[in-house]
Formats: sequence, structure tokens, C-alpha cells
Amino acid sequence: MLGFTSCSKDEDTGKENPTPTPVGPQALNLENYKNGSGVMMQTFYWDVEPRGEWWNILSGKVEGWADAGIDRLWLPVVSKGQSGGYSMGYDPSDYFDFGNFNQHGTTKTRFGSRTELESLITKAHANNLQVIADIVLNHNSGGGQEFNPYRNKQTYTEFNEQNGNASGLFNRSYEDFHPNSTHESDAGDLFFAEQDLCHDQERVQKWLWKDANSVAKYYKNVMKFDGWRFDYVKGFAPWVLKDWMASVGGFAVGEFWDGYGPALEQFVKDSGIDAFDFACFYKMDEAFDRNKDLTYLNRDMLRKSMPDNAVTFVANHDTEKDSNQDNNISYANKMKAYAYILTHDGYPTMFYSDYENATFQKELKQLMLLHNTLATGSLEILHIDKDEYIMKRSGNSTNPGLILYINIANTKQRREIPTSWNGKQIMDYSTKSSYSPTVGANGSVSIEAPANSYSVWSIME
Ligand code: ZN
Ligand code: ZN
Repeated sequence: MLGFTSCSKDEDTGKENPTPTPVGPQALNLENYKNGSGVMMQTFYWDVEPRGEWWNILSGKVEGWADAGIDRLWLPVVSKGQSGGYSMGYDPSDYFDFGNFNQHGTTKTRFGSRTELESLITKAHANNLQVIADIVLNHNSGGGQEFNPYRNKQTYTEFNEQNGNASGLFNRSYEDFHPNSTHESDAGDLFFAEQDLCHDQERVQKWLWKDANSVAKYYKNVMKFDGWRFDYVKGFAPWVLKDWMASVGGFAVGEFWDGYGPALEQFVKDSGIDAFDFACFYKMDEAFDRNKDLTYLNRDMLRKSMPDNAVTFVANHDTEKDSNQDNNISYANKMKAYAYILTHDGYPTMFYSDYENATFQKELKQLMLLHNTLATGSLEILHIDKDEYIMKRSGNSTNPGLILYINIANTKQRREIPTSWNGKQIMDYSTKSSYSPTVGANGSVSIEAPANSYSVWSIME
């Protein structure tokens, strides 16, 4: 409802001015309530078309994403992998080939050329977006064969100008992998065992983060990356990340794939970087999909114990793989899960394929706006049972906060709750409900959520 205040100029008609129609409370202009937080966009999915055009496609979307409240872009791995133009980047061969060396059958990477990548990064910065590099430190792939005395056989551990490392930077051989003269293996899981990089080797440390043209410093100072998403951090010891961060700093999040909250906490403490909140992801999957029981949202998550270090998500390139139909949050429940992560604490991630899905985009935009404005202040669960979940963000002296109501019953539900919005008329800013009650003098009010959906309440003024 828009209120137009009539302009009360005396037009000398001799008549009294008509009494202006009283203007009722209106929706808050949310733009006035920016709380300084944003949302990270994961800018790829598992099988992005291998046409070498992805950087240009992303460049075309940067401005729209910035307008929608995105503050960081997590790019797919930017360097050349063993499978060349088909590589998603998790088989790193040459850390310094950004689509500018002809090797593994292609000059461009799956995503494009170095020039196109650099122009994407420049455009993101011009739109005040940070750019996050996906860094694979655990293992390498695509080297040449050499005799490896530690294994007493041929291994693919020779990386030089002729063997998968055309840049000539960080040439490697068997001493840089496990086992070697230092030890048998590192503290992590063995994955790509024969090409499992040894971070205890001084040479490897120098090339990865210590020297001026190390991966870390080159990506930061030459390529202009602002931060890091570390792949498969279970594969090596957390001090590696601490050392990397001491060298270059920036935003950093690790893929510590574990649904157990305390394990994620330990990783954050040991590494000093943030972690994707896999515990939150699995609890949402259990609450919405597997058990249809919202009390699972009461269980351990990283964002509950360490909200400032939890990077929350509803989907990523792995959970949405065709081969992984079980470990994802179903389409029918996705918007409820996004409503959850975009109103709670933790730093939320938006998955490319969800945002770019025309069915979801309008709703996700509104939720991101709510995240960046009213989703602030301390968090309190006002009600939780099998089919209802009601959570309040307190706001602060200049921000009224919000109340999220998730309902997974097949009928609309209402529930009376306490608020600090005494006497104010309230509305559902998700616009799913047109019900707009006035809060009682004691702060109590009845709110509603549509069947199998959610609503997000705050004051009008
Ligand atoms: Zn080692
Ligand atoms: Zn209930």
C-alpha cells in the first residue's frame, strides 16, 4: 500500500482543504537498513559447459549480482589441470597456467583464457566484489613419468616445462611428494596418494606461499585475488593454512567435509580460517528432506558455536552432482533452506545454479535483501517442534530485526509469539502472507506461515 500525502497548497478556492486520508503504516524501505553484511556467490556448478567461455559469461552477470547483495565471488579453480579443457580444476598440473600456455591439449582452460579471467576480476573489483580463488594444495595431477626411488617404480611426479608445467614455475619431482626423505606421509588423508604434495619440504613451502612468486603471492599480487577457498583440507595438516594466511592474509574458508560440528570447530581453531558449515547443511537435509522434523535444526552446527567462522550453504558443486542424488536438499525444500541460512548468523553462500534458476531468483533476491538488512542482532529460537520453527533476530537500536517462521505442515499454521515490537503493525517481508496484524501492547502477536513454506516478519512504519 503506497500512501500519497496530498499537497496542501491553499488554492484560494475559499473552501477548506479536504482532510487528508490517514496514511497507514507502510513497508520499511529495506535499503535504509543495510547492516554491512553480504552473500558469497559460488560461480560454478560441477559440469560447466567446457567451451572456454565461462569467464565471459560470469563477467556479464557481475553487475546484477552486486546489485542483488553479493559481496564475494568464489571462482572455480583458475589454473590448468591434467584434463585440460575438460578439467574442473581439481587435478592441478600447472598453478601458473591460467589459460595462457598450450598444454594438456588446450591453451584456454575449461573456463577461458587468462585475459578473460583478468577482465572478470577487474570487473568484479569495479563493482566492489571480492574475488576468491579455489586453491588445491593436497595433490597434483598431469606430470610426466619418472623413476621414484621411494616407491621403487615409475610415478607421474615429474613436473617441468615439457611435463605439465609449461610455466616453468614450481617445477616438481618425487622429492616433493610422499613418501620422501622427510617422511612417509602427512597428517591428512591419502588421496591421489602418489601425487600427494609434501608441505614439509622447504621447496614446496617456498613455491606455494613463501617466495615472491609463490602461488599465494602471485595470485594475490599479480592476479589480484582477495581470498581463498581451500579444497580438500582434510588431506593435509592445518598449519599449512596458517602459514599461507600469515604470508598473504585475506578471507579464507576451508572445505573440511565433515557433518560433525565439533570436528569443524577443531579445524577452525587449528587452521585459523573459516569453514563451510557441513553440519548445518546435513541438519537441514535431515530436517527438511530425510526426517521431515525441524527439531534437527536444534542439533550441532558450526554456526551455533562459531557463527563468525561458519560459511553456510544449501548446495555446492559436489552436492548437486548428478551422481550425488542423496546428499542434497531437494528442490521442493530449497527455498526453506535458503530462508534458514539467509536469516541466521554465519556467512551464507549462494549457489550459481539456484540463483540463476528463474523459478527461484526473485525469491532468493528478496531473501538476500533481508539478509543484508534486517537479519542482524542476537538470535533466539522462539518455538521449535516437528513441523514449526520460529527464530528471532533482535536487530539493534536502529534496526527492528526479523522473525523467521518455517512451517512444514500441509496446512497454514499460526502461533502467538513474544516480540519487542509493542503496538506496531507487522508484515511478512517474504510476501508469502498478506496477513498483517498489530502487535499487542505487551509485545505478543500471532504470526502465520503458509503450508510447507516460510514467512519473515518485521515492523511496518
Ligand atoms: Zn609431507
Ligand atoms: Zn507444530
